[in-house]
Amino acid sequence: AGSGKFFVGGNWKCNGTKDSVSKLVSELNAATLESDVVTFVAPSTTGSLQTRRWLDHSLPDVVVAPPFIYIDQVKNSLTDRIELSAQNVWVGKGGAYTGEISAEQLVDIGCKWVILGHSERRNIIGEDDDFIGKKAAYALSQNVKVIACIGELLEEREAGKTFDVCFRQMKAYADNITNWTDVVIAYEPVWAIGTGKVASPEQAQEVHAAIRDWLKTNVSPDVASSIRIIYGGSVNAGNCADLAKKEDIDGFLVGGASLKGPDFATIVNSVT
Ligand code: PEP
Repeated sequence: AGSGKFFVGGNWKCNGTKDSVSKLVSELNAATLESDVVTFVAPSTTGSLQTRRWLDHSLPDVVVAPPFIYIDQVKNSLTDRIELSAQNVWVGKGGAYTGEISAEQLVDIGCKWVILGHSERRNIIGEDDDFIGKKAAYALSQNVKVIACIGELLEEREAGKTFDVCFRQMKAYADNITNWTDVVIAYEPVWAIGTGKVASPEQAQEVHAAIRDWLKTNVSPDVASSIRIIYGGSVNAGNCADLAKKEDIDGFLVGGASLKGPDFATIVNSVT
């Protein structure tokens, strides 16, 4: 992890019932999100090593994204240590758009974040780069923070096109976003999502560093150094610690493992 605030998001996707959501909320409320504690080791005056722990004021951002229909239920029962995200939003102001949810409505119910450009929306629903970029711009204009997803398909990786695809997707965001303060980038290789096939820490680090470099050249050095780039794709309680050690991995977007409160807490705590 870099020097910024660690960020962990849980994407619940189209899962849950009122009962299972209530159980998951109870698990999250009971969990100790310990990574607000930082450990350091320092020599004492007698030369022996002392271990001290103190509370870091920059607590990790922890966000969960329930299906729209349960956001209000979760908002009313979940600890406010964890913020709420939607999994999608309409591209502009609300109105005659049957079946859509607007950024204004997210704000109205206290939902601060939205996941955009998720591979399931790109590849199953058919959202394209420009539409996603416009959604990001509109959400940000309404003060809804954006988790901007990118990532290559398996065949694109195998054809050596990983960087081309990620940079093309990044450009669509950059063409639409003017202020990156409220943006977190989620690199999610499609071949790793929901497959149990996690990217190695080295594979993820390589792409994260390339994205940061792309931002430095194409947006600004300031944005490149301050933005969080999180990894998603089969992250679980067992593999998160090694990924979290990498310099350019600033957190995670978690699907399957975010449906289990204790596992999600372990992932949040992996930054220490
Ligand atoms: C996701 O959908 O954002 C995701 C990373 O899923 P999973 O953790 O299940 O691979």
